[in-house]
Amino acid sequence: MADELKTNPYWWDAATPRQLPETEVEPVCDVVIVGAGYAGLSAALVLARAGRTVQIFDKQRPGEGASSRNGGLASANIRMGFVEMAKKLGKETAERIYNEGKAAREGLAEFVKTEKIECDYQPVGRFVGAYRPAHYEAQCREADRLNKQFDINAQVIPRSEQHKEIGSDYYHGGMVRPDLAGLHPGKFVAGLLDTVIQAGATIHSETAVTDIKNQGDVFDVETARGRVKAKQVIVATNGYTDESNRWLQRRLVPAASRMIATEPLPPETMARLFPNNRMMGETRKLYHYYRPSPDGTRILFGGRERSWSGPKRDHAYHLRDDLAEIFPELSNVGLSHTWFGFVAFNLDFLPRMFERNGVHYATGFCGSGVVWAWWVGSKLAYKLIGDERAETAFSSTPPPAIPFYTGTPWFLPAALMWFELQDKFGVISKR
Ligand SMILES: Cc1cc2nc3c(=O)[nH]c(=O)nc-3n(C[C@H](O)[C@H](O)[C@H](O)COP(=O)(O)OP(=O)(O)OC[C@H]3O[C@@H](n4cnc5c(N)ncnc54)[C@H](O)[C@@H]3O)c2cc1C
Repeated sequence: MADELKTNPYWWDAATPRQLPETEVEPVCDVVIVGAGYAGLSAALVLARAGRTVQIFDKQRPGEGASSRNGGLASANIRMGFVEMAKKLGKETAERIYNEGKAAREGLAEFVKTEKIECDYQPVGRFVGAYRPAHYEAQCREADRLNKQFDINAQVIPRSEQHKEIGSDYYHGGMVRPDLAGLHPGKFVAGLLDTVIQAGATIHSETAVTDIKNQGDVFDVETARGRVKAKQVIVATNGYTDESNRWLQRRLVPAASRMIATEPLPPETMARLFPNNRMMGETRKLYHYYRPSPDGTRILFGGRERSWSGPKRDHAYHLRDDLAEIFPELSNVGLSHTWFGFVAFNLDFLPRMFERNGVHYATGFCGSGVVWAWWVGSKLAYKLIGDERAETAFSSTPPPAIPFYTGTPWFLPAALMWFELQDKFGVISKR
């Protein structure tokens, strides 16, 4: 492995989270937003354009959380499969959520175009490899439903034709979703940030919010650089929620996800491994997500963080081993970058926006926030200004508290082992 393995996201080479000049914290404003990831920024954009005075606070640089660290797969994926969702929430709600995913994907494509955000948006589709033969059969049923019910044009690819989609024999066929896309997450944050600044919102970088008090007709927001009185408050801290909001911490499980970037590979290798330049996924529960870099020169490969101990280089090596299971010829490939970030899960695996004690929340994107965080953030802003575009199929109730959990996910190792076991025995999620 190259000695100079970088531990910042590959994306930061082209778009490092911006260090903004320190500006005075205004003592009074219409809306305070906590967290400047996709959710906080997209909410800020709608509010500032509607004439609200907005101050956004982020304890890191804007976008330095998950929003500039992710794989850039714009999927609006929902963890809970349709069958399970219909059982739990009713068929009508499940259909509304699936249709909202379609609207959100199309909305993001349109947004990037109209706002002229240069973020390497590529509508290349996604191939999901079947980990087991039974998974492929389930994909056939899923594709049938997606096409009949949601007009998606999903295609199943049998194993015998798999090389049209991926230069690997690892999977038992797979499914192509042509409606999904990829983007450069760092550039997307940077472009979103520009629109927010141009719209007139103020962003306070590296300034933590430490407390929010509802005083009846106004909120007192304590920050590391002074107090603000705000009429409304949005919390968009997702996987980076800290002890300043213990109530939310008890409802979200932060899970670390790690990525590696390979050294540049020969163009003919990239063309063979990724013939259609698609985003890639898998059907197993502890799945990997991967893709060619937007310039097509290297592979970006992600999966769960395996442990907290040991040097991060070892974690990168483990992930490279996983990559080599799929592409054995890459067992000794050089790596240029490895990094990780936090995603946030809740008990029902559904994103949501809700209100508690007058404070508004956008959260629970469960590893699929490239589309959802942007979408739900703007929905929430529409709600605050009384705009009918606030309409959403997602729940407006807070996620339930997780029993015996105060914010340190002590149960994660056991949960990961459980998923690993299910993968070993080929358990299928009902989609
Ligand atoms: C490695 C990795 C790969 C991923 N891959 C994908 C993918 O391919 N596709 C996909 O759809 N999703 C993916 N995701 C998930 C996606 O990145 C997130 O769902 C999305 O970015 C969440 O956006 P957000 O605005 O809600 O939160 P974030 O971007 O995490 O922003 C939250 C912000 O809140 C700030 N904050 C927290 N507490 C405070 C406080 N007290 N005061 C001030 N600021 C505070 C943090 O500093 C942070 O910047 C991935 C995530 C990771 C980590």
